[in-house]
Amino acid sequence: MPAARGGRPRGRVYWSLEQAVLALALLGGFPAAIALAWIAAGQNYSFEVRWTLAAVVLAVWIGCAAAAYHMITHVLYLAANLLGALHEGDYSIRGTGAKPGSAVDLVMKEINSLGDTLQRQRSEAVESTALLTSVMGAIDVAVFAFDMNEQLVLANPAAERLLGRPSAELLGLSARELRLDRYLTADAPRLIDRPFGPGSGRLELRRSTFRRDGKPHRLLVFADLSRALREEEQQAWQRIVRVLSHEINNSLTPIKSIAHSIKRMISRVPDVPRASEIQDGLMLIESRSGALGRFLRAYAQLARLPRPQQQSIRLLPLARRIAELENRAPVDVRAHEDVQINADPDQLEQLLINIVRNAVDATIETSGRVWMDWRQTDGYVELTIEDEGPGLPDTSNLFVPFFTTKPTGSGIGLALSRQIAEAHGGTLALENRPDARGCRATLRLPLPV
Ligand code: ADP
Repeated sequence: MPAARGGRPRGRVYWSLEQAVLALALLGGFPAAIALAWIAAGQNYSFEVRWTLAAVVLAVWIGCAAAAYHMITHVLYLAANLLGALHEGDYSIRGTGAKPGSAVDLVMKEINSLGDTLQRQRSEAVESTALLTSVMGAIDVAVFAFDMNEQLVLANPAAERLLGRPSAELLGLSARELRLDRYLTADAPRLIDRPFGPGSGRLELRRSTFRRDGKPHRLLVFADLSRALREEEQQAWQRIVRVLSHEINNSLTPIKSIAHSIKRMISRVPDVPRASEIQDGLMLIESRSGALGRFLRAYAQLARLPRPQQQSIRLLPLARRIAELENRAPVDVRAHEDVQINADPDQLEQLLINIVRNAVDATIETSGRVWMDWRQTDGYVELTIEDEGPGLPDTSNLFVPFFTTKPTGSGIGLALSRQIAEAHGGTLALENRPDARGCRATLRLPLPV
């Protein structure tokens, strides 16, 4: 008899089911054969009749037993083949042909419904994997999954971008090799400042665990909060600039016009004592209030950056034009490949002029070179402007409005440029060149899809 459910034999098994069926079929016919032989022995049959009768009875008896054996083995092999196909993942195969309502029909129906269930589960698994993959690809949050041995088993596109390497290169590396081991044990959630270099911004680290194939795995999640924090910051100083401009302009305008009127009045009155000194003083008041007004208007630009009016632009002619505008020092355009991007031409030009001007300002001291280059990477164009100047003073304040190290600087160039880059769905970062003295500005803008 077959083993009990769960694989544990209930007792010793001597015969298989099909052998038992064969034995029972033979045994079932045995009393009838003996009875027939006994009856035939009492009759006055000839030798040939007896043997013919015996041959027919034996043939039918053994034939029926063999047919019963064959039928039972056929059903069992059929069920085994169907289950084997399910096991191999072929859920399209179906068992049919049994008499409705029979035990074999019931077995076939159960196997068929098992196939349906497995097929549904497989398509659900495929759909959820596809959903998970597209969610992981679309989110701007870097996700790393590590197995028990702290080896990377999963990295989404944002994680690839964060480390600047494709996942084919990253998978299988240890947390230590990726320099992520400290985050597996560090306090979380918490804010980390530029953990992967100046381009990585302020990230929030979160950690969690999950099980795969019954084994514990750890998940590291890095969310870039720089943009959100910057937007908050921007809104705060935009409000301050608006209020200050309004208040200061309210006072500046009468100061300037009164100074102007007094100057004119004094020039008409003869013999005013110390007239020229008074004129100089009033001129100074007038010119300084004018300068202060212009200065405030420049800041107000930051608070009122209009939404970009995007159109298709060719990068190569734009870059060449900006390089030619700079007449204090030569600016090379190294890239030869033209790239088509969607951007507001005035805003993008303003951004590039600011960065090139800063680079030239820096190199004038050292008589170094300035050059522009770009390349296309995963849906973005990455434009770099490098110089051979002294490098950056303090990278954490660069994009803070009003921050300047130049005697006549306004400190709005970089803040405005970053605002423009982000309004175009891109980023702007400045860092010191890793290989030599000087600064590298990297502007990333999305390529049209
Ligand atoms: P401004 O040019 O008016 O100073 P920016 O916002 O354009 O304002 O620049 C802020 C500061 O960033 C500059 O004063 C300078 O100290 C620094 N900076 C920008 N670009 C460079 C560069 N290429 N090399 C060195 N320092 C730079």
